[in-house]
Amino acid sequence: MLEHDVIIVGGGLAGCRAAVEIARTNPSLNVAVVAKTHPIRSHSVAAQGGIAATLKNVDSSDSWEAHAFDTVKGSDYLADQDAVEILTREAPDVVIDLEHMGVLFSRLSDGRIAQRAFGGHSHNRTCYAADKTGHAILHELVNNLRRYGVQIYQEWYVMRLILEDGQAKGVVMYRILDGRLEVVRAKAVMFATGGYGRVYNTTSNDYASTGDGLAMTALAGLPLEDMEFVQFHPTGLYPVGVLISEAVRGEGAYLINSDGERFMARYAPSRMELAPRDITSRAIAYEIRAGRGINPDGSAGGPFVHLDLRHLGKEKIMSRIPFCWEEAHRLVGVDAITEPIPVRPTIHYCMGGIPVNTNGQVRSSGENFVEGFFAAGETACVSVHGANRLGSNSLLECVVYGRRTGAAIAQYVQDRKFPTVDEQLYLRQAQQKLQSLLDQGGKYRINQVRQAFQDTMTEYCGVFRTEELMRQGWEKLQQLQQQYTEIYLDDKGSCWNTEILEALELENLIVVGQMILSSALNRQESRGAHFREDYPERDDVNFLKHTMAYYSPAGIDIQYRPVTITMFQPQERKY
Ligand SMILES: Cc1cc2nc3c(=O)[nH]c(=O)nc-3n(C[C@H](O)[C@H](O)[C@H](O)COP(=O)(O)OP(=O)(O)OC[C@H]3O[C@@H](n4cnc5c(N)ncnc54)[C@H](O)[C@@H]3O)c2cc1C
Repeated sequence: MLEHDVIIVGGGLAGCRAAVEIARTNPSLNVAVVAKTHPIRSHSVAAQGGIAATLKNVDSSDSWEAHAFDTVKGSDYLADQDAVEILTREAPDVVIDLEHMGVLFSRLSDGRIAQRAFGGHSHNRTCYAADKTGHAILHELVNNLRRYGVQIYQEWYVMRLILEDGQAKGVVMYRILDGRLEVVRAKAVMFATGGYGRVYNTTSNDYASTGDGLAMTALAGLPLEDMEFVQFHPTGLYPVGVLISEAVRGEGAYLINSDGERFMARYAPSRMELAPRDITSRAIAYEIRAGRGINPDGSAGGPFVHLDLRHLGKEKIMSRIPFCWEEAHRLVGVDAITEPIPVRPTIHYCMGGIPVNTNGQVRSSGENFVEGFFAAGETACVSVHGANRLGSNSLLECVVYGRRTGAAIAQYVQDRKFPTVDEQLYLRQAQQKLQSLLDQGGKYRINQVRQAFQDTMTEYCGVFRTEELMRQGWEKLQQLQQQYTEIYLDDKGSCWNTEILEALELENLIVVGQMILSSALNRQESRGAHFREDYPERDDVNFLKHTMAYYSPAGIDIQYRPVTITMFQPQERKY
């Protein structure tokens, strides 16, 4: 059995930042990071637009209080304000710390870190490295893992959280290269497994964003928080869905419908294209529904709108947002210097997740905690984003709460002994699970079931939701879960068997989809990204509370937990 003081699942920004903090705090601890990808292929590497912090390099009137207010208002008042205060107060410090580690931020002419406008932020506070910010930060963090001697298990797939008697004791993992199984026991387990974009059929997320950490947590009997809040990013490149960063609108691009109109004037007159993402995505979806979308031949009534950068000019486009220009050029043959880019909303971010407190400790219920289990980053819900995340606050969350969680773990493991784990039992169960997948003589291909599942989630639990639609969706999910037991695998081998991984991931996707749908059905109001056409208003009397959903094969139990309000009383949200 492998043994580490701390095992961190996830090599993105949150996992790496936590590992660095543990190593800095107590170099004698034995820390390992495991990732199913190479760490620098974690989705964090794809982050483009930037990381928010009130450095005041561009706008001296900015303050952490203003950042906190924007974040809480953006969240439609569902964020926990104690967590938002920590996020925004610690932001300048974590960004400077990243700079000291060697992150190459873009600069002002006087050498200080440059900052740009971003949706829902009232001041220019987003720090960036052109439009490759995640790349710049993650590479430096991974370098630091090596510097601090953190052990990296790359391309190992974690299949199961070992949880016994309210204690996390380790994980079971599978080496993709040769199918080897290992049990790892640890004094603390941390999940930093990222989001679940692949639950839907059109997403900006990478192929690895399958919500594994969320599903493993739910299957262990622990709750997931606020899963109904799924962020659609307004500008997914049509038809592929990859992201055209909000930085493009931050730099001044326009959204235009088939009438040539800057339609955001109707939805968010004061913020226009820089309204928060929930409002902008719905506005685009309304325009398309009303027949003012555009077709590939330029006629009206089509499936996308235009993102127009032409007035920015070549020099600005190529220096500030070169990657977005390249994406549009490479993937759909559009030269954004002379032509508008076709865009429509794409699934982007998971506001909910594994419920944690501000030290990253995982909740087993409203106010109780699991021993030895921590989480941070997109997979966690601390909740700084509430019902809608502001752009550039997620990288910030990963770094602020990665650091805090790392510091808390370093303290926590000091007084903890290695738990006892029955290695053979867990190996046997994992082996049986894999073998039964290989032996299963079903009639469905994995891809068929996955596509049907992703289409179901997109159609029945997308931008616009109703009770009737979601109930139909629920029926379909039940059928798909049945079909999952009848999938067959062609590859029976143990060497780089990606079919086994896809089968394990699909099981996780379906669990996550069920958690999203049932949480959404129960929230009979509209708030942030969760929009119910049958309940179009926000309802603070009945629903100013966090969903806590508990999974069991018999059904999903929904409970609620209060929101922490310390600074800002809920108001009507207008832009
Ligand atoms: C295209 C794009 C652009 C973005 N731009 C911005 C931006 O400009 N600013 C901003 O603030 N946010 C942005 N975001 C959001 C932000 O990048 C993410 O929320 C954040 O990087 C998530 O980091 P993470 O560490 O939580 O997870 P990730 O970076 O997603 O890493 C997850 C890790 O977990 C591992 N893993 C998952 N499951 C398993 C398993 N079963 N076994 C082993 N390992 C596993 C993966 O291999 C990976 O290493 C963007 C997101 C996308 C998709």
